[in-house]
Amino acid sequence: MKLMKMGTMATINQEISFEIGSLVASEYGFELVEGSTNDEEELEAIDALIDKEEDKEEDLVKRPPVVTVMGHVDHGKTSLLDAIRKTNVTSSEAGGITQHIGASEVMVNGEKVVFLDTPGHEAFTSMRARGAQVTDMAILVVAADDGIMPQTIEAINHAKAANVPLIVAINKIDKPGANQDRVKQELADQGLLVEDWGGDVICVPVSALKREGIDTLLEMVLLVAEMEELKANPNKRAVGTVIEAQLDKGRGPVATVLVQGGTLRVGDPIVAGVASGKVRAMINSKGKRVKVAEPSTAVEILGLSEVPQGGDQVVAVPSDKAARLVAEKRQQMAREEMLKSNQRMSLDDFFSQM
Ligand code: GDP
Ligand code: MG
Repeated sequence: MKLMKMGTMATINQEISFEIGSLVASEYGFELVEGSTNDEEELEAIDALIDKEEDKEEDLVKRPPVVTVMGHVDHGKTSLLDAIRKTNVTSSEAGGITQHIGASEVMVNGEKVVFLDTPGHEAFTSMRARGAQVTDMAILVVAADDGIMPQTIEAINHAKAANVPLIVAINKIDKPGANQDRVKQELADQGLLVEDWGGDVICVPVSALKREGIDTLLEMVLLVAEMEELKANPNKRAVGTVIEAQLDKGRGPVATVLVQGGTLRVGDPIVAGVASGKVRAMINSKGKRVKVAEPSTAVEILGLSEVPQGGDQVVAVPSDKAARLVAEKRQQMAREEMLKSNQRMSLDDFFSQM
């Protein structure tokens, strides 16, 4: 009827042009988009997969903990991570150049622990702002000669807000001015009562410089991981989060991704934020090429169309086409979001002028 009113005499099995079709659709308040219905269905299926998929209890298996190191500047975060890495370097690896991928894995009593190099603050603020939670626990480094400082308190608050367990490492115990009791008192003032004072906060004295107490600290990490009962389903398409990403001159967009669920494989079509592509190669924290990455594995991946952002969600999808479609949809959403915030901004600007 509509077609006839528009002067197009067509029967039910006749083909009409996209333009005419759009006109009819708009009469009913719909916008016609070029493409097959299969695309739409595929998109919907993927949306469901990304948003709602919940793991069944019986599919879950134990996974390694992912840990960040936080603390005030100069209290020894970098030194502690170095010390942790070095205690774990096997003699065959010693001297070898380990490629930096933004995360490291160490073995503690035969169990894997993943450390993110991103300063904990960043991991918590930028990642959480984007709805991503990447860490299972935080090590709070407090220098024994300096005590609780502003960024220490900030770190405590981040961990509390994210509901992430904290292990305190009182560092620099080798220094003459070291005073562990003062640190414990200041922690208590912040509501963190350490175990030997009758509380439940695990606290380990260490010297990152002299590599003392590192083993005990790592054992405590495993203990907390055990209590948290960290689990994931390795038998599904991978989901994870971008830890960091950059454009490499020779290799193109490179992203370090923490696989959090499922298993990522070379050849998998993926979406990372608004970027899409196919995993061309994966490099683990030891700088070795790998073909698969299971839950709680950080890998550098090559093959993305553009550089994603830290905190972006990564998902493996059924097909290249699906990857492209999801990325396009996300780009469109990002543009709309930006437009909205620009409008909000200009309104704010307007009011600030008054
Ligand atoms: P970050 O800013 O928290 O990453 O701190 P760094 O790891 O860069 O350490 C800051 C300074 O403290 C450096 O000069 C380190 O050598 C020193 N440092 C770190 N750990 C220790 C330690 O256990 N003992 C001593 N004496 N110095 C340390
Ligand atoms: Mg540092």
